[in-house]
Amino acid sequence: MIRFENVHKSFGHIEVLKGIDGEVEKGQVACLIGASGSGKSTLLRCVNGLEDYQQGRILVDDQLVDAHAASIHDIRTRVAMVFQRFNLFPHMTALENVMEGPLHVLGEPRAEVRERAEEHLTRVGLADRVNSYPSALSGGQQQRVAIARALAMRPDAILLDEPTSALDPEMVGEVLTVLRDLAEERMTMLVVTHEIQFAREVASSVFFLDKGLIAEHGSAEEVLTRPQNARTQDFLRRVT
Ligand code: ATP
Ligand code: MG
Repeated sequence: MIRFENVHKSFGHIEVLKGIDGEVEKGQVACLIGASGSGKSTLLRCVNGLEDYQQGRILVDDQLVDAHAASIHDIRTRVAMVFQRFNLFPHMTALENVMEGPLHVLGEPRAEVRERAEEHLTRVGLADRVNSYPSALSGGQQQRVAIARALAMRPDAILLDEPTSALDPEMVGEVLTVLRDLAEERMTMLVVTHEIQFAREVASSVFFLDKGLIAEHGSAEEVLTRPQNARTQDFLRRVT
């Protein structure tokens, strides 16, 4: 579904991705872990063309991701992104935020879009907050609106960049619950996370990124419970 082949990315003279290989299969959840600055966000942003890359290939299904080609718009409708800081439109209600993409990017009919948006907000537990503005919602509620907004595009996959790390601790659980449900429904997801327990529960595969390289990858059990690489072991000791 999402495939990385020898992906290199530099900012100026600094190479931050140094040859990434890996695959997220359809219906699976891959978690990407690693220290601050290891390149996790950059890798995610390369998948939907928010950053370009200089070498190698990223494929979504069999379509090449090229940030400078017109086809990137199509990739972005197929691969939704959820950010650490929600990024909702502040002047729009929860419902309007969720309707925006299907209405204006996909050009779907308003009545249908509205009905589906309400369903998505219900699915993330916000049926009673459809008319609230982001400023009137908690961080956990805002992030759930952001997830509903991603789902409204009916994506083939969702990329999530530390979806819970900007939240107060008491709000983390409600967002992880939504993600667990999506995982059970076999939504394809690539999740950057420091929630190791969550990764243990839902990840089909885990990638440990170390200074721009995948130092270790395998099942959650292999990477998180019996890591072979000394750097993975060291990282896990620090975050758990
Ligand atoms: P964190 O856990 O802190 O979010 P990360 O693993 O997501 O870290 P990235 O944000 O991908 O790391 O950054 C990887 C490296 O690339 C860092 O050294 C960072 O300073 C650098 N970098 C990221 N974005 C840019 C940019 N726009 N211009 C220059 N350097 C950048
Ligand atoms: Mg990051």
